Amino acid sequence: MGSGAETDLITLGRRIRHLRTAQGLTLDALGEKVGSAPSLLSLVENGRREPRLGLLRSIAEALGVPMSELLSAEPPSRRAALEIALDRAQRGPLFTTLGVPAVKPSQKLPMPVLEQLVGLHDELARREQMAIATPEEARRANTELRLEREARDNHYPQFEAVAEQLVKAAGYTGGALTHRTVARMAEQMGFTLLHVDDLPRSARSVTDLRNGRIYLPPASTPGGHGLRSLALQALAHRVLEHDRPRSYGEFLRQRVEITYFAAACLAPQFVAVPFLEAHKRERDLAVEDFRDAFGITHEAAAMRLTNLATHHLGIPLHFLRVGADGALFRGYANDGLPFPQDVTGAIEGQLICRRWAAREAFERRDRATEFYQYTDTPAGTFWCSTQTGSMSPSGGPDGGSGAFSITVGVPYAHAKWFRGRDTQVRRSSTCPDPACCQRPAPELTARWSGEAWPSGRMHQQILAALPRGAFPGVDDAEVYAFLDKHAPE
Ligand SMILES: [Zn+2]
Repeated sequence: MGSGAETDLITLGRRIRHLRTAQGLTLDALGEKVGSAPSLLSLVENGRREPRLGLLRSIAEALGVPMSELLSAEPPSRRAALEIALDRAQRGPLFTTLGVPAVKPSQKLPMPVLEQLVGLHDELARREQMAIATPEEARRANTELRLEREARDNHYPQFEAVAEQLVKAAGYTGGALTHRTVARMAEQMGFTLLHVDDLPRSARSVTDLRNGRIYLPPASTPGGHGLRSLALQALAHRVLEHDRPRSYGEFLRQRVEITYFAAACLAPQFVAVPFLEAHKRERDLAVEDFRDAFGITHEAAAMRLTNLATHHLGIPLHFLRVGADGALFRGYANDGLPFPQDVTGAIEGQLICRRWAAREAFERRDRATEFYQYTDTPAGTFWCSTQTGSMSPSGGPDGGSGAFSITVGVPYAHAKWFRGRDTQVRRSSTCPDPACCQRPAPELTARWSGEAWPSGRMHQQILAALPRGAFPGVDDAEVYAFLDKHAPE
């Protein structure tokens, strides 16, 4: 359906005109049959006048069609669809601000001109939408999506089904999905994967629909998983029949969908669920095993676990990706973990509690294995498993750089299914109470207040707000502790 009653009137008018001209009737002839002035019928056909029900009934009778035929929302032809689109665009607020003359979408306009005008209007509307997507809107859209995912346990059966069907058709039976299988999936959809080193900086991949080619970064990019994932995400746009996004919200939703599809291909449900169920029975669930069994990154494995654990294993859980500065880069929780939030409800860019495993893990020297911790919070006790890692300064395909930690955690009652449940590490967090860890200790404040002048680091993530602190982007508690540690006696 279009946008409201006006659109429907335009479609109705086009359908009447289409049926009338198809029968070789003039406006005068139809007017005579239905007992109305041709000028009124012309207004109706142009969508400028809403016909009374009685007139509509007479028109249907005169044209020998049922009423439903007139009232269908379908444009009667490709040409009519274009005429309707042009008419609608020219009546819209965006066009009226341009101050250029309108074109009457009449029979005289050649089809290629009509096609181009509608194409230009569509592109104009899309660019306008993109331009007004402020960071705040982006954050709201992102929050909306996260809440939707949390409400449905981050499980999307339709993506699971289509991924399973495609990997099976390409011959996948279990284990890590190979490059060869991904290439075969692409072939079966009519695409060839090509690696190039001059991709546009703003694109992660580019698909040539005309020639059936998907361009990806060079094969030498570190991390084979990243390339398989990028190729699958490019395919996902086709599989899931995406159009060019018209808003930031749509752009984000598509990103969530293609990421989900790629993950569902890399660790398909029909293999991943029995794997996880077996480990649950053994009370030996571990993200690192899941990661290794399917040859994916720790982050991808952790995220994939959120797709499957609640729906299939009955385990609520949370996921966090946190930078070394303590700012949350990405988060998900359907287990009640109290994420810090800004006024819009966004969690990205918020500093998470210093006592949480996601930050305590940075203090460890041995970072090769998972770090386990129980954390008491105002919302209950959680068990968490954290793995730290680092990326090249240029960041990954998804932005983000430097050291980070990936955490998967569950409420205390569910820790029993996981390896590492016997950890003795236990911390207590009272965040968002500022006295927990955000505010510098009183004696440090007394010593350093007014004597500290750190130069703030710029945050680059668009979704990230600046962490709280006396200076933009600076964490006083950390600065003071640092100064104290290095201060001469
Ligand atoms: Zn805290």
